[in-house]
Amino acid sequence: MKCAYCSNEAPATKEHIISSAILDLFPECYLTVDENRKVIHASDPMVKDVCAECNNNRISYIDNYAKQLVQKYFLQKYEEDTALEFHYDYAMVQKILLKYAFNDLRSRKEDSSFFNKTILDFLMNENNNSPLNHVSVLAGLAVILPQYQIIFLGILNCDGRNLQYFWKIVLFGITIMRPAKSF
Ligand SMILES: [Zn+2]
Repeated sequence: MKCAYCSNEAPATKEHIISSAILDLFPECYLTVDENRKVIHASDPMVKDVCAECNNNRISYIDNYAKQLVQKYFLQKYEEDTALEFHYDYAMVQKILLKYAFNDLRSRKEDSSFFNKTILDFLMNENNNSPLNHVSVLAGLAVILPQYQIIFLGILNCDGRNLQYFWKIVLFGITIMRPAKSF
């Protein structure tokens, strides 16, 4: 197999589309909804075209950063009047979203030609931490109170192409919707 990241010929290993370190933070969310195959299964979404070296070493620093970010901001309880200062490394946020989008596109066998050598080198080199100028991250955090649903939305505008990546973490519970004001 040719590794999707480094292009070396090597045995294929299973790469998590969204890192297991993050999925493990939400043990109650153990089901994968596979829209393509129209199935729901009790295992993590994976793609099997990455060599062990890339999977376990070269790109794992991205997952480590993503886990820290999620742990710091997405597992907290917020109140309506909470003032939140969100500190992040822009290049690392680009890397997280690019990596997950790349994995997701390959798993669905969609066009991933945008991920050329420049992007893959950016992902595979921890020391390459200058943000890519042609990739914009438009991200928002929506918290629906009470704390039952947390959604992280990332959209990538890649060089004019509409590459969207939607990362949704949903904590199931009884959501009490506040009635809309009537005018
Ligand atoms: Zn590789």
